[in-house]
Parts: sequence; C-alpha cells; structure tokens
Amino acid sequence: MRPRRNSKLDRIFLDANAGLAVREEVLETFVQVSRDAYANPSSIHRAGRHAQAALENAREEVASLLLCAARDIVFTSGATEANNLAILGLARAAKRLFGRPIPLVASRAEHPAALAPLRVLQQQGFPLHLVNLDAHATADVDAMLEHAATSDVSLSVLQWANNETGVIQPIAALASHTSDDHLWHCDAVQGIGKLAMDPSLWRATTLALSGHKFGAPKGVGILRLSENAMLDPVQVGGGQQRSLRSGTESPPLAASFAHALRLAMKEQKASTAHLQNMRTIFLNALQNLGIPFLSNHCMEHGLPNTLNLSFPDLDGRMLIPACDADGLEVSAGAACSSGAALPSSVLVAAGLAPEVARASLRISLSADLEEIEAFEAAKRLGKLLRRMCKVAKR
Ligand code: PLP
Repeated sequence: MRPRRNSKLDRIFLDANAGLAVREEVLETFVQVSRDAYANPSSIHRAGRHAQAALENAREEVASLLLCAARDIVFTSGATEANNLAILGLARAAKRLFGRPIPLVASRAEHPAALAPLRVLQQQGFPLHLVNLDAHATADVDAMLEHAATSDVSLSVLQWANNETGVIQPIAALASHTSDDHLWHCDAVQGIGKLAMDPSLWRATTLALSGHKFGAPKGVGILRLSENAMLDPVQVGGGQQRSLRSGTESPPLAASFAHALRLAMKEQKASTAHLQNMRTIFLNALQNLGIPFLSNHCMEHGLPNTLNLSFPDLDGRMLIPACDADGLEVSAGAACSSGAALPSSVLVAAGLAPEVARASLRISLSADLEEIEAFEAAKRLGKLLRRMCKVAKR
C-alpha cells in the first residue's frame, strides 16, 4: 500500500524524482526489523548473530533481484555515497595498479553526486573529459567511447536516466565496450520502478541505487559491483562489508531497501503504464489551456513520469515559490540544488540559455497520482502561469 500524503487536491506532489514517501509495508518492515534485530551485526553474541542474519538476508534478496552474488552488494547511506565509493574507489585502485592516473570520461548530464567526485579526482591529476549533450540531455556516447579508447584503461561514468529531463541514456553502447580495463560506473538511481531492467546494466563495473527514490526510507542505497571490480575504500574504520565500507550496518535499513526494491520491480510494468497515462493527461490539459512552453524532456525515450518544461517569457526565480504557494510541489532541477539561484547546469549543457533554463520546471509524477490530481495540477499551473505572464507584460 502506498501512503497518502495529503488530502487530495490540497497539496499536489509532483516531485517524485527528488524522493518518495516510505511505503507503508516497507515502514512496517523497518519497525519490525528495528525491534527484532537491534544488536550490532558485528557482535558475536546471539543477538549480534541475529542482526547479522537479518542484514545478510537483505543483501541476498537485493543480490537475487540484481542478478549478482550477495558479496557484490555494498550497503551505503544512499546514492551520493555509492557514487563516491565507485568513482573514487575505482579510479584510485586503477592508479595503484597501473601506476598512473587513468582517464575519466563522463557526461555533462551526471548528477552532482557523480560530478563532484570526478572533479576531486581531476584536481588530483586524473584527466577528465566531459562529453556534450543534445537538447534532451542525451550524452554523446560516441564521444565517450572515442575518449575512452585513447588509453588502454579508462573509467567512464554514464547514468541510466537523467533526473532532470528524464532522458534514457544510450547505455547499451557503453556496456558493450565495458571490460576489466574499460570500466563503467552507472548511476541507475532514476530508472528503478519506472523502467524495465535493461540487461546492459549488468555489464556495469559498478551500479548505484538509492532507496528513497522507490519507497524505502531515506538514508540507504547500494553499490552493486561486478565480479572483478577493484575498488579502494573511501571510508575506513572497522572493516565492515569486506572493508569496502567501514561503519556499522543497519539491518532495518537494509531490509527496508530489499523490500522496497522487490515491490518496485514487481510493480514496474503497471506503474509505467499508469505514469505514462497521467503524464499525457497532465500535458494535454496544460496544452488545452493555451500556455506556450518548450519541452526539454523526451516522450519516446524518457522516464514515463518526467516532464521538463521551460517558460521563456517568465522570470524563473518566481516560478517555484509561486507553484509552492499554489500547492504544487515541483522542482527546478536536482533537488539538492533547487534552492539555488543558478540555472540547471544540465539544461544549460543541453543548449538552453541560462535565463530560459532558470524559467524551467521539472514535473515528476509518482505512481499514486490520480487522474483528478493530474487535471487539477495542470489547471492550477496554467492559471498561475497566466497570472505571471500578465505581470511580466506590464
Ligand atoms: N543520482 C541521481 C541521478 C539522483 O537523482 C540522486 C538524487 O536525487 C542522487 C544520485 C543522489 O542520491 P541520494 O539522495 O541517495 O544521495
């Protein structure tokens, strides 16, 4: 059962890509495992062994869903940590093995949680090449492959789907070139529960997921490793999780993650169909109101729940606060930077002028959105935009 957030039509939640509420049944798992497996999973007494069993059961379930061995699942605090561990860990281990900093290649569409560790490595002497995007924020994967091929060893970073425009990246091309020497880290955060699992994902050297994007509590994610992945740890301490991620593990968070992942994967097909339907209803209703906008999303090859619209005639700084005041919960880009006055760097890299990028909204629907809410959201947004247009023309 999905939680109802508010009374219908009071506040309308259109920010699913930033994070979802915890699902009721997952919350029950969290509470039950917290009560039952309360000890430190590293303790060797009976209570500790019980907590360890709960943790390892969760790891096994995640591994069986993601078609890998349990030892190749590392629980983290979320995808920011998983991206950091993958990118810093792979690059530093490769430098140790090959005796030199390896080239890094990534798309300009990556989330800050991937771009920031890449920048850290660049400052430490790793050559970094960021490839350009098309108007939907699709990465130029040929350019990625060309750059990766200039060295006998490299690390490429390419997400599954973009959190802002929703575009699905051409991961198959990169997957077919991934090897023990040509490493690929995939930030797969946005695809889970919205897209059918793509077999290309299983070729990634490392793959990051975040629980709160599909109904687990905030504060838990995973890194899935390929069999031969060589990583240096980023966080050191007690040597938990094969010394890859020191720190006391949380059996309740791990069990909640496994439960939410199982549900998201099981329900994906139905969710996708519903989301596509709601997106069409919303978009048609907005178009019928005669509001001019530019579309930055990709209907054919994008996340079924994501719209990214620009309103070039408006002052973008007022857009989010005005939506919020009218009960529409939307964002302008990555949630972590949506409070910032800066335009989305992804939209700018996709070719929008900074002032147009600033006047953009990301609307990301959740699977429990109802038809009446989709209509009401479009109507409310249309009204608000008309009001803002009038003010702008004065
Ligand atoms: N990667 C992508 C594509 C995301 O959308 C997000 C969150 O918005 C993250 C990484 C960061 O995940 P977390 O919130 O689990 O740190």
